[in-house]
Amino acid sequence: MSRRRPSSGRIARAVPCVAASTVAAVMATAVGWLLFGRRQLADVVMIYLLGIIVVSLRFGYVPSIVAAVLSVLLLDFFFVPPYLSFAVSDFQHVVMFAVMFVVAVVISRLARRVRIQAEEAHQANLQMEAERLRNALLSSVSHDLRTPLSVITGAASALLHSSPALAPGARSDLAETIHEEAQRLDRLVRNLLDMTRLASGAVRVAKEWQAIEGVVGAALGRLAEPLRDRNVEVRISPALPLVAIDDLLIEQALINLLENAAKYTPSGTPLELSADADRGALVVAIADRGPGIPQDLVDRIFEKFYRLPREGASGGGGLGLAICRGIVEAHGGRIWAENRDGGGAVFRFALPLGGTPPELVPEGGP
Ligand code: ADP
Repeated sequence: MSRRRPSSGRIARAVPCVAASTVAAVMATAVGWLLFGRRQLADVVMIYLLGIIVVSLRFGYVPSIVAAVLSVLLLDFFFVPPYLSFAVSDFQHVVMFAVMFVVAVVISRLARRVRIQAEEAHQANLQMEAERLRNALLSSVSHDLRTPLSVITGAASALLHSSPALAPGARSDLAETIHEEAQRLDRLVRNLLDMTRLASGAVRVAKEWQAIEGVVGAALGRLAEPLRDRNVEVRISPALPLVAIDDLLIEQALINLLENAAKYTPSGTPLELSADADRGALVVAIADRGPGIPQDLVDRIFEKFYRLPREGASGGGGLGLAICRGIVEAHGGRIWAENRDGGGAVFRFALPLGGTPPELVPEGGP
Protein backbone atom coordinates (compact mmCIF):
# COMPACT_ATOMS: atom_id res chain seq x y z
CA MET A 1 0.00 0.00 0.00
CA SER A 2 1.22 3.45 -0.77
CA ARG A 3 1.67 5.94 2.06
CA ARG A 4 -0.49 9.07 2.01
CA ARG A 5 1.41 12.00 0.65
CA PRO A 6 0.54 15.60 1.32
CA SER A 7 -1.76 16.77 -1.49
CA SER A 8 -0.26 19.07 -4.10
CA GLY A 9 -2.79 21.75 -3.00
CA ARG A 10 -1.31 21.81 0.50
CA ILE A 11 2.20 22.03 -0.87
CA ALA A 12 1.13 24.86 -3.18
CA ARG A 13 -0.31 26.74 -0.20
CA ALA A 14 2.76 26.10 2.00
CA VAL A 15 5.31 27.40 -0.54
CA PRO A 16 4.36 31.12 -0.38
CA CYS A 17 4.17 30.94 3.44
CA VAL A 18 7.66 29.46 3.77
CA ALA A 19 8.93 31.93 1.17
CA ALA A 20 7.39 34.87 3.06
CA SER A 21 8.89 33.71 6.38
CA THR A 22 12.32 33.38 4.77
CA VAL A 23 12.11 36.74 3.04
CA ALA A 24 11.02 38.43 6.30
CA ALA A 25 13.90 36.92 8.31
CA VAL A 26 16.49 37.68 5.61
CA MET A 27 15.23 41.25 5.19
CA ALA A 28 15.29 41.81 8.96
CA THR A 29 18.91 40.60 8.95
CA ALA A 30 19.84 43.01 6.15
CA VAL A 31 18.01 45.99 7.66
CA GLY A 32 19.39 45.25 11.15
CA TRP A 33 22.90 44.98 9.73
CA LEU A 34 22.69 48.23 7.76
CA LEU A 35 20.97 50.30 10.47
CA PHE A 36 22.50 49.03 13.69
CA GLY A 37 25.31 46.54 13.06
CA ARG A 38 26.55 44.24 15.80
CA ARG A 39 26.71 46.81 18.58
CA GLN A 40 23.00 47.52 19.07
CA LEU A 41 21.69 43.99 19.55
CA ALA A 42 18.44 45.07 21.23
CA ASP A 43 17.50 47.22 18.22
CA VAL A 44 18.29 44.39 15.83
CA VAL A 45 15.98 42.12 17.85
CA MET A 46 13.21 44.71 17.40
CA ILE A 47 13.66 44.59 13.62
CA TYR A 48 13.33 40.79 13.68
CA LEU A 49 10.18 41.05 15.81
CA LEU A 50 8.73 43.53 13.35
CA GLY A 51 9.28 41.05 10.50
CA ILE A 52 7.60 38.30 12.54
CA ILE A 53 4.58 40.56 13.25
CA VAL A 54 4.17 41.33 9.55
CA VAL A 55 4.29 37.62 8.68
CA SER A 56 1.81 36.71 11.42
CA LEU A 57 -0.67 39.39 10.32
CA ARG A 58 -0.42 38.55 6.66
CA PHE A 59 0.13 34.76 6.62
CA GLY A 60 -1.00 33.42 9.99
CA TYR A 61 0.30 31.45 12.91
CA VAL A 62 2.47 28.66 11.51
CA PRO A 63 4.41 30.87 9.03
CA SER A 64 5.13 33.33 11.83
CA ILE A 65 6.59 30.52 13.98
CA VAL A 66 8.75 29.50 11.01
CA ALA A 67 9.82 33.15 10.71
CA ALA A 68 10.63 33.23 14.45
CA VAL A 69 12.83 30.12 14.24
CA LEU A 70 14.65 31.47 11.18
CA SER A 71 15.08 34.86 12.87
CA VAL A 72 16.64 33.31 15.97
CA LEU A 73 19.04 31.28 13.79
CA LEU A 74 20.06 34.28 11.64
CA LEU A 75 20.42 36.53 14.70
CA ASP A 76 22.68 33.97 16.31
CA PHE A 77 24.70 33.44 13.13
CA PHE A 78 25.34 37.06 12.19
CA PHE A 79 25.00 39.17 15.31
CA VAL A 80 25.93 37.03 18.35
CA PRO A 81 29.52 36.04 19.14
CA PRO A 82 31.12 33.81 18.04
CA TYR A 83 30.13 35.37 14.70
CA LEU A 84 29.26 33.34 11.58
CA SER A 85 28.59 30.28 13.74
CA PHE A 86 25.53 28.84 15.42
CA ALA A 87 27.44 28.29 18.65
CA VAL A 88 26.53 30.51 21.64
CA SER A 89 29.20 31.54 24.11
CA ASP A 90 27.13 33.56 26.55
CA PHE A 91 24.14 32.13 28.46
CA GLN A 92 22.56 35.62 28.39
CA HIS A 93 22.08 35.20 24.66
CA VAL A 94 20.24 31.92 25.09
CA VAL A 95 17.81 33.77 27.36
CA MET A 96 17.46 36.51 24.71
CA PHE A 97 16.62 33.91 22.04
CA ALA A 98 14.03 32.32 24.31
CA VAL A 99 12.43 35.68 25.09
CA MET A 100 12.39 36.63 21.42
CA PHE A 101 10.74 33.32 20.54
CA VAL A 102 8.10 33.63 23.29
CA VAL A 103 7.28 37.20 22.24
CA ALA A 104 6.91 36.02 18.64
CA VAL A 105 4.52 33.23 19.69
CA VAL A 106 2.43 35.61 21.82
CA ILE A 107 2.22 38.19 19.03
CA SER A 108 1.22 35.53 16.52
CA ARG A 109 -1.53 34.24 18.80
CA LEU A 110 -2.86 37.75 19.30
CA ALA A 111 -2.79 38.38 15.57
CA ARG A 112 -4.65 35.15 14.96
CA ARG A 113 -7.31 36.10 17.51
CA VAL A 114 -7.73 39.53 15.90
CA ARG A 115 -8.17 37.88 12.51
CA ILE A 116 -10.74 35.41 13.81
CA GLN A 117 -12.66 38.23 15.48
CA ALA A 118 -12.63 40.25 12.25
CA GLU A 119 -13.96 37.24 10.34
CA GLU A 120 -16.72 36.73 12.93
CA ALA A 121 -17.70 40.40 12.70
CA HIS A 122 -17.83 40.09 8.91
CA GLN A 123 -20.12 37.03 9.17
CA ALA A 124 -22.39 38.85 11.65
CA ASN A 125 -22.63 41.78 9.23
CA LEU A 126 -23.59 39.49 6.38
CA GLN A 127 -26.31 37.93 8.53
CA MET A 128 -27.65 41.33 9.51
CA GLU A 129 -27.77 42.39 5.87
CA ALA A 130 -29.69 39.21 4.97
CA GLU A 131 -32.10 39.86 7.82
CA ARG A 132 -32.76 43.43 6.67
CA LEU A 133 -33.32 42.24 3.13
CA ARG A 134 -35.81 39.66 4.34
CA ASN A 135 -37.69 42.29 6.35
CA ALA A 136 -37.78 44.76 3.47
CA LEU A 137 -39.03 42.04 1.13
CA LEU A 138 -41.65 40.97 3.63
CA SER A 139 -42.96 44.50 4.04
CA SER A 140 -43.01 45.08 0.30
CA VAL A 141 -44.76 41.72 -0.18
CA SER A 142 -47.47 42.61 2.29
CA HIS A 143 -47.84 46.11 0.82
CA ASP A 144 -47.95 45.12 -2.84
CA LEU A 145 -50.14 42.08 -2.36
CA ARG A 146 -52.74 43.80 -0.24
CA THR A 147 -54.14 45.95 -3.07
CA PRO A 148 -55.07 43.22 -5.58
CA LEU A 149 -56.19 40.95 -2.74
CA SER A 150 -58.62 43.49 -1.36
CA VAL A 151 -60.02 44.17 -4.86
CA ILE A 152 -60.49 40.43 -5.41
CA THR A 153 -62.14 39.98 -2.01
CA GLY A 154 -64.51 42.93 -2.64
CA ALA A 155 -65.52 41.74 -6.12
CA ALA A 156 -65.96 38.14 -4.97
CA SER A 157 -68.14 39.09 -2.02
CA ALA A 158 -70.27 41.37 -4.27
CA LEU A 159 -70.76 38.41 -6.60
CA LEU A 160 -71.61 36.05 -3.73
CA HIS A 161 -73.95 38.25 -1.74
CA SER A 162 -75.85 40.28 -4.31
CA SER A 163 -75.80 37.94 -7.24
CA PRO A 164 -79.57 37.83 -8.02
CA ALA A 165 -79.84 41.62 -7.98
CA LEU A 166 -76.92 42.12 -10.35
CA ALA A 167 -77.35 42.66 -14.05
CA PRO A 168 -75.48 40.01 -16.09
CA GLY A 169 -73.17 42.70 -17.45
CA ALA A 170 -72.17 43.83 -13.96
CA ARG A 171 -71.60 40.22 -12.95
CA SER A 172 -69.23 39.58 -15.82
CA ASP A 173 -67.44 42.89 -15.04
CA LEU A 174 -66.86 41.67 -11.49
CA ALA A 175 -65.63 38.30 -12.75
CA GLU A 176 -63.33 40.12 -15.16
CA THR A 177 -61.93 42.25 -12.33
CA ILE A 178 -61.25 39.15 -10.28
CA HIS A 179 -59.51 37.54 -13.25
CA GLU A 180 -57.33 40.61 -13.95
CA GLU A 181 -56.36 41.15 -10.34
CA ALA A 182 -55.56 37.46 -9.85
CA GLN A 183 -53.23 37.70 -12.85
CA ARG A 184 -51.62 40.81 -11.38
CA LEU A 185 -51.16 38.95 -8.12
CA ASP A 186 -49.58 36.04 -9.92
CA ARG A 187 -47.17 38.39 -11.66
CA LEU A 188 -46.33 40.21 -8.45
CA VAL A 189 -45.51 36.98 -6.68
CA ARG A 190 -43.31 35.94 -9.57
CA ASN A 191 -41.49 39.28 -9.51
CA LEU A 192 -40.98 39.07 -5.80
CA LEU A 193 -39.48 35.64 -6.22
CA ASP A 194 -37.22 37.03 -8.95
CA MET A 195 -36.15 39.81 -6.61
CA THR A 196 -35.33 37.43 -3.78
CA ARG A 197 -33.33 35.24 -6.13
CA LEU A 198 -31.60 38.29 -7.54
CA ALA A 199 -30.77 39.58 -4.08
CA SER A 200 -29.31 36.22 -3.09
CA GLY A 201 -27.25 36.11 -6.29
CA ALA A 202 -29.07 32.97 -7.45
CA VAL A 203 -30.81 34.48 -10.45
CA ARG A 204 -30.37 32.79 -13.81
CA VAL A 205 -30.69 35.08 -16.79
CA ALA A 206 -32.69 33.30 -19.50
CA LYS A 207 -31.51 35.34 -22.50
CA GLU A 208 -33.40 35.29 -25.77
CA TRP A 209 -33.22 37.50 -28.82
CA GLN A 210 -35.77 40.30 -28.31
CA ALA A 211 -36.82 43.53 -29.93
CA ILE A 212 -36.65 46.24 -27.26
CA GLU A 213 -39.94 47.81 -28.50
CA GLY A 214 -41.85 44.76 -27.29
CA VAL A 215 -40.33 44.94 -23.82
CA VAL A 216 -40.93 48.71 -23.58
CA GLY A 217 -44.54 48.19 -24.73
CA ALA A 218 -45.13 45.48 -22.11
CA ALA A 219 -43.73 47.66 -19.31
CA LEU A 220 -45.80 50.69 -20.33
CA GLY A 221 -48.87 48.46 -20.60
CA ARG A 222 -48.45 47.29 -17.04
CA LEU A 223 -48.07 50.85 -15.78
CA ALA A 224 -51.15 52.28 -17.50
CA GLU A 225 -52.66 53.13 -14.12
CA PRO A 226 -49.81 55.04 -12.39
CA LEU A 227 -48.95 56.79 -15.67
CA ARG A 228 -52.50 57.74 -16.61
CA ASP A 229 -51.97 61.49 -16.07
CA ARG A 230 -48.54 61.50 -17.78
CA ASN A 231 -47.48 62.24 -21.25
CA VAL A 232 -44.82 59.60 -21.96
CA GLU A 233 -42.89 60.41 -25.11
CA VAL A 234 -41.42 57.16 -26.46
CA ARG A 235 -38.60 57.43 -29.00
CA ILE A 236 -37.02 54.19 -30.21
CA SER A 237 -34.33 54.49 -32.89
CA PRO A 238 -35.36 52.84 -36.13
CA ALA A 239 -33.60 49.64 -37.17
CA LEU A 240 -32.25 48.73 -33.75
CA PRO A 241 -30.84 45.21 -33.79
CA LEU A 242 -32.32 42.46 -31.65
CA VAL A 243 -30.72 42.21 -28.22
CA ALA A 244 -30.08 39.06 -26.16
CA ILE A 245 -31.93 39.67 -22.89
CA ASP A 246 -34.22 38.07 -20.36
CA ASP A 247 -37.30 40.05 -21.36
CA LEU A 248 -39.12 39.55 -18.05
CA LEU A 249 -36.16 40.85 -16.05
CA ILE A 250 -35.55 43.87 -18.32
CA GLU A 251 -39.29 44.61 -18.23
CA GLN A 252 -39.04 44.57 -14.44
CA ALA A 253 -36.13 47.04 -14.54
CA LEU A 254 -38.09 49.35 -16.86
CA ILE A 255 -41.12 49.11 -14.59
CA ASN A 256 -39.08 50.05 -11.53
CA LEU A 257 -37.56 53.07 -13.33
CA LEU A 258 -40.91 54.25 -14.74
CA GLU A 259 -42.64 53.74 -11.40
CA ASN A 260 -39.96 55.83 -9.71
CA ALA A 261 -40.36 58.53 -12.37
CA ALA A 262 -44.08 58.57 -11.64
CA LYS A 263 -43.59 58.45 -7.86
CA TYR A 264 -40.88 61.05 -7.43
CA THR A 265 -41.94 63.75 -9.91
CA PRO A 266 -44.93 66.10 -9.72
CA SER A 267 -48.08 64.70 -11.29
CA GLY A 268 -48.64 65.92 -14.85
CA THR A 269 -44.95 66.51 -15.64
CA PRO A 270 -43.78 64.79 -18.86
CA LEU A 271 -41.63 61.67 -19.11
CA GLU A 272 -39.41 60.55 -21.97
CA LEU A 273 -38.33 57.03 -22.80
CA SER A 274 -35.74 56.42 -25.49
CA ALA A 275 -33.69 53.53 -26.88
CA ASP A 276 -30.61 54.01 -29.05
CA ALA A 277 -27.58 52.03 -30.15
CA ASP A 278 -24.36 53.58 -28.91
CA ARG A 279 -20.85 52.11 -29.19
CA GLY A 280 -21.90 48.47 -29.28
CA ALA A 281 -24.56 48.81 -26.60
CA LEU A 282 -28.29 49.33 -26.48
CA VAL A 283 -28.87 52.38 -24.29
CA VAL A 284 -32.32 52.85 -22.77
CA ALA A 285 -33.03 56.17 -21.03
CA ILE A 286 -35.93 57.29 -18.85
CA ALA A 287 -35.96 61.03 -18.28
CA ASP A 288 -38.21 63.17 -16.08
CA ARG A 289 -38.67 66.81 -15.08
CA GLY A 290 -38.83 66.19 -11.32
CA PRO A 291 -36.51 67.41 -8.55
CA GLY A 292 -33.48 65.45 -9.80
CA ILE A 293 -30.96 63.80 -7.48
CA PRO A 294 -28.34 65.57 -5.31
CA GLN A 295 -25.16 65.27 -7.39
CA ASP A 296 -23.14 63.52 -4.67
CA LEU A 297 -25.79 60.80 -4.28
CA VAL A 298 -26.30 59.75 -7.92
CA ASP A 299 -24.43 56.49 -7.25
CA ARG A 300 -25.69 55.83 -3.73
CA ILE A 301 -29.35 55.64 -4.80
CA PHE A 302 -28.53 52.29 -6.45
CA GLU A 303 -27.49 50.77 -3.13
CA LYS A 304 -29.80 48.36 -1.37
CA PHE A 305 -32.18 50.10 1.09
CA TYR A 306 -30.88 53.55 0.20
CA ARG A 307 -33.51 56.30 -0.10
CA LEU A 308 -32.85 60.01 -0.36
CA PRO A 309 -33.23 61.70 3.05
CA ARG A 310 -35.98 63.96 1.63
CA GLU A 311 -38.29 60.91 1.14
CA GLY A 312 -38.84 60.42 4.90
CA ALA A 313 -39.86 57.05 6.31
CA SER A 314 -42.88 56.30 4.15
CA GLY A 315 -43.02 54.48 0.81
CA GLY A 316 -40.70 51.92 -0.72
CA GLY A 317 -37.90 49.99 0.87
CA GLY A 318 -35.12 51.46 -1.26
CA LEU A 319 -34.81 48.22 -3.24
CA GLY A 320 -36.18 49.28 -6.65
CA LEU A 321 -32.97 50.69 -8.09
CA ALA A 322 -30.81 48.00 -6.46
CA ILE A 323 -32.92 45.43 -8.28
CA CYS A 324 -32.51 47.36 -11.56
CA ARG A 325 -28.76 47.35 -11.07
CA GLY A 326 -28.77 43.62 -10.25
CA ILE A 327 -30.77 42.87 -13.39
CA VAL A 328 -28.68 45.05 -15.70
CA GLU A 329 -25.36 43.79 -14.31
CA ALA A 330 -26.55 40.19 -14.61
CA HIS A 331 -26.81 41.00 -18.35
CA GLY A 332 -23.25 42.32 -18.42
CA GLY A 333 -24.55 45.89 -18.65
CA ARG A 334 -24.33 49.08 -16.61
CA ILE A 335 -26.87 51.48 -15.13
CA TRP A 336 -26.42 55.05 -13.95
CA ALA A 337 -28.28 58.26 -13.17
CA GLU A 338 -27.62 61.87 -14.15
CA ASN A 339 -29.27 65.23 -13.66
CA ARG A 340 -30.64 66.92 -16.77
CA ASP A 341 -30.04 70.41 -18.06
CA GLY A 342 -33.22 72.30 -17.32
CA GLY A 343 -34.07 70.12 -14.30
CA GLY A 344 -35.03 66.52 -13.67
CA ALA A 345 -33.25 63.18 -13.64
CA VAL A 346 -32.37 60.71 -16.35
CA PHE A 347 -31.75 57.03 -15.64
CA ARG A 348 -29.85 55.13 -18.33
CA PHE A 349 -28.90 51.53 -18.74
CA ALA A 350 -26.66 50.04 -21.41
CA LEU A 351 -26.93 46.41 -22.52
CA PRO A 352 -24.25 44.83 -24.70
CA LEU A 353 -25.30 44.34 -28.31
CA GLY A 354 -23.56 41.76 -30.43
CA GLY A 355 -23.65 38.20 -31.64
CA THR A 356 -25.97 37.08 -34.37
CA PRO A 357 -29.58 36.19 -33.76
CA PRO A 358 -30.44 32.73 -35.12
CA GLU A 359 -32.07 32.61 -38.57
CA LEU A 360 -35.79 32.06 -38.38
CA VAL A 361 -36.70 28.70 -39.90
CA PRO A 362 -40.10 28.97 -41.57
CA GLU A 363 -42.75 26.65 -40.14
CA GLY A 364 -42.94 23.34 -41.98
CA GLY A 365 -39.41 23.96 -43.31
CA PRO A 366 -36.57 21.42 -43.14
P1 ADP B 1 -37.69 53.33 -3.26
O1 ADP B 1 -38.43 53.87 -4.46
O2 ADP B 1 -38.29 52.11 -2.69
O3 ADP B 1 -37.41 54.38 -2.25
P2 ADP B 1 -35.46 53.01 -5.10
O4 ADP B 1 -34.24 52.17 -4.98
O5 ADP B 1 -36.36 52.73 -6.26
O6 ADP B 1 -36.25 52.84 -3.74
O7 ADP B 1 -35.03 54.52 -5.16
C1 ADP B 1 -34.08 55.04 -4.24
C2 ADP B 1 -34.27 56.53 -4.05
O8 ADP B 1 -33.87 57.23 -5.23
C3 ADP B 1 -35.69 56.94 -3.82
O9 ADP B 1 -36.03 56.83 -2.46
C4 ADP B 1 -35.70 58.38 -4.30
O10 ADP B 1 -35.28 59.20 -3.25
C5 ADP B 1 -34.63 58.42 -5.37
N1 ADP B 1 -35.19 58.44 -6.74
C6 ADP B 1 -35.47 57.37 -7.52
N2 ADP B 1 -35.95 57.72 -8.72
C7 ADP B 1 -35.99 59.09 -8.72
C8 ADP B 1 -36.39 60.08 -9.69
N3 ADP B 1 -36.85 59.74 -10.91
N4 ADP B 1 -36.27 61.38 -9.33
C9 ADP B 1 -35.78 61.72 -8.11
N5 ADP B 1 -35.41 60.84 -7.17
C10 ADP B 1 -35.49 59.53 -7.45
